[in-house]
Amino acid sequence: MSAFDLDKLVRPNIRDLVPYSSARDEFKGEASVYLDANENSLGSPTLKWYNRYPDPLQWKVKQQLADIKHVAPEQIFIGNGSDECIDLLYRTFCIPGMDNVIICPPTYGMYAVSANINDTSIRQAPLLDDFQLNLAHIEQLIDAHTKIIWICSPNNPTGNSINRHDIEMVLNNFSGLVVVDEAYINFSRQRSLLADLAEYPNLVVLQTLSKAWGLAGLRLGMMMASTAIIELINKVKPPYNIGIHTQQLVTEALQHTAAVNDMIMALVDMREALEEVFYQMPIVEKVYPSDANFLLVRMKDAQSIYNYLLTQGIVVRDRSNVKLIENCLRITVGTEQENTALVDALGSYIAHTYLPKIKSNA
Ligand SMILES: *Cc1c(COP(=O)(O)O)cnc(C)c1O
Repeated sequence: MSAFDLDKLVRPNIRDLVPYSSARDEFKGEASVYLDANENSLGSPTLKWYNRYPDPLQWKVKQQLADIKHVAPEQIFIGNGSDECIDLLYRTFCIPGMDNVIICPPTYGMYAVSANINDTSIRQAPLLDDFQLNLAHIEQLIDAHTKIIWICSPNNPTGNSINRHDIEMVLNNFSGLVVVDEAYINFSRQRSLLADLAEYPNLVVLQTLSKAWGLAGLRLGMMMASTAIIELINKVKPPYNIGIHTQQLVTEALQHTAAVNDMIMALVDMREALEEVFYQMPIVEKVYPSDANFLLVRMKDAQSIYNYLLTQGIVVRDRSNVKLIENCLRITVGTEQENTALVDALGSYIAHTYLPKIKSNA
């Protein structure tokens, strides 16, 4: 396997790209009169402080994130959700109609959708029965046009963490990018790969404020990698991809790490309690071990349970038609009340389905 060479990996048009240079890129100091960006100097009558463009590189937010994540601010890209990060990785590295990526299903759907949008072919190495990587299969699929291997850990929708040793095997033996999506890392017993960024020039770590931080509506995803990779992504991103309001709200939210950690522990406790309750239920075949804020549960009849829950106003995710997780529902841990409502509804489903039969047999 050839050594990692970022210059060869990046699309040539992106390597040679002269990026857009905004007014805020060209003048970075402090001034009293700003007449350089064609903003409306009178401002909006209703939203006074939004007439100016935001910091295109969001340095204040990145400095805060850098302190929390123990990486340099220059190693961070922030996007409009992880989904923007995923799309930018394709646009920066994958030549449409020529390059390919490797995906390990069942996993997060956006890796494939974004590949299709960017006309990048998808090679699939399904997870093994224990939902771990099939390293031999991955190795077979790699060719000279393989740019990215996507690894989701903890994995959505299976909930398990991918063995660290296996991820390291891929990092050590593949000279393209290995993207590890850690959307659920704060709920996991495994430690993040962020600490290993210096060791692996081909490692990209994705995290998000959408799950553990409770901010899915804000849209803030993070991509962390070598400064060289992040510089390439910064060339491709839209100049002002994160608004002023989001930057301010994130700055505020990031000051409350202790409260967030308490919340994470509460969610993990409730996940464990739910797991035990599910296990007692005759409709449940298996509760898969979870390192995330959801449980994958194999049911006797997932679709019928899904439909029954809908009649009770409860929506879970029906994954029963997905290969390797047939007959499974993916259930997000809710509030205590929501979990109680779910358990009660499942109880009445069981009563409906089983008790009449027991009666008629008697
Ligand atoms: C929820 C989730 C995300 C988060 O995406 P955002 O765009 O940041 O909300 C990313 N990856 C996985 C695997 C997820 O499940």
